[in-house]
Amino acid sequence: MIDLKTLPEEGWRKRDRCDRLRLTDGSTAENITYELLLLPSKEDIYIDLKSQCTWLGACSRCLTPVDVSLSFNIQFMGSFDPDLLEGGDHTVGKQDLDVIYFESHEIEEQDFLREQIELQVPSCVLCDEKCQGLCPQCGKNWNKGSCHCQQELISEPSALALALKKLKLDLND
Ligand SMILES: [Zn+2]
Ligand SMILES: [Zn+2]
Repeated sequence: MIDLKTLPEEGWRKRDRCDRLRLTDGSTAENITYELLLLPSKEDIYIDLKSQCTWLGACSRCLTPVDVSLSFNIQFMGSFDPDLLEGGDHTVGKQDLDVIYFESHEIEEQDFLREQIELQVPSCVLCDEKCQGLCPQCGKNWNKGSCHCQQELISEPSALALALKKLKLDLND
């Protein structure tokens, strides 16, 4: 837990690592290294986070596990003043920074890290650009071969067609 009200004037700095973090969507980030700087100014806190990790995700089409290396460096302002958010960007020197609102004067380091990693996770990953995906009917992974669903759809007469055929036969009797 970091107490945001008692940060040293020269800033609070930490460089650490974390083996794995479970993200809220159930996926996992591994081998996380990070460097966090919290620099207090009057009402706000300047935040600089540098991090690298491996995200264990899944292909958006065929669900095969895919590892994605994430590397990011983000800077923003943390504020205790909710009105600042409505004002939009906060300018520090020449830099326009996004503002996040702190509801509490304490933050849990791992939760904070988790949130930031989640923002970096790509919404769509593919195991391969040519990934064929899964058959919507039988669930077969089309990268490993085709299934018979498509053919069956064409060759198998529908219930209506069968009923009509029967009706025809009945009429001919
Ligand atoms: Zn795939
Ligand atoms: Zn199929």
